[in-house]
Amino acid sequence: NFVPALIPPDEIGVKFDDIGALEDVKRTLNELVSLPMRRPELFSRGNLLRPCKGVLLFGPPGTGKTLLAKALATEAGTNFINITSSSLTSKWFGDAEKLTKALFSFASRLAPVIIFIDEVDSLLGARGGAFEHEATRRIRNEFMAAWDGMKTKDSQRILVLAATNRPFDLDDAVIRRLPRRIYVGLPDAENRMKILRVLLSQEKLEPDFRFNELAIATEGYSGSDLKNLCIAAAYRPVEELLEVEKERGRSDTMPSLRPLKLDDFIQAKSKVGASVAYDATSMN
Ligand code: ATP
Repeated sequence: NFVPALIPPDEIGVKFDDIGALEDVKRTLNELVSLPMRRPELFSRGNLLRPCKGVLLFGPPGTGKTLLAKALATEAGTNFINITSSSLTSKWFGDAEKLTKALFSFASRLAPVIIFIDEVDSLLGARGGAFEHEATRRIRNEFMAAWDGMKTKDSQRILVLAATNRPFDLDDAVIRRLPRRIYVGLPDAENRMKILRVLLSQEKLEPDFRFNELAIATEGYSGSDLKNLCIAAAYRPVEELLEVEKERGRSDTMPSLRPLKLDDFIQAKSKVGASVAYDATSMN
């Protein structure tokens, strides 16, 4: 009954170019993951260039961590297994351990593969002291044992990529196994502009649409907030057209949808605000 979400590289449908901004993060992931996965022979000599077994993406919600993980599998040409805490835990006591073992043996057959664990804090969170549920502790230990037990040949072609909004909740032993930690932060105005250009690349916009003004007006917005804002703005011409139809009745001579204006976005701000209340900028 173990059915992880498995996606082959050509079916993921997201690549780095579909992600606005985050250039440094993309560059680091390319060096750390894509290159060793695509050219393992360049990393097999000596001791210095060892492929890395675990990478952690951390930072506020909605900043594109999941999107980056998927796009990375496309860039690296690997299969992608998406694991959430609920896909490993089941109401049947003991199953989680079997599932964890199955996961790694499955991954070994599918390599090269990225095992992505979203919200890793809920699967591999800090030890909860005396009150911690026995099953939680067992899953974490089992997961770490299977991870450590990866054969050398597999460890070059299986990467555990984890993401969290709550890096401080992670168990030290888990943090140690994710030696490369990459902060994915909220975008500044210039990066918001880059994200908006990607999000609006297929839309009909008024001539000389002022991206820079919109970027400045969206201080504090994450990539996900920007996307929701764009959706809300895109509704406005639709609503207007429906309003006209209501007054005049529907006919074949109805005007077509007008292009989106900057003002649509400014008005939509009252519906979609910045959702992130904190910005965890550093982690040891
Ligand atoms: P969470 O921590 O809440 O899971 P996350 O960091 O994984 O969030 P995503 O799920 O990747 O964020 O982002 C949500 C959506 O926001 C994406 O599917 C995408 O539509 C949009 N988005 C976020 N960041 C970007 C970006 N840099 N460029 C383009 N779209 C983005």
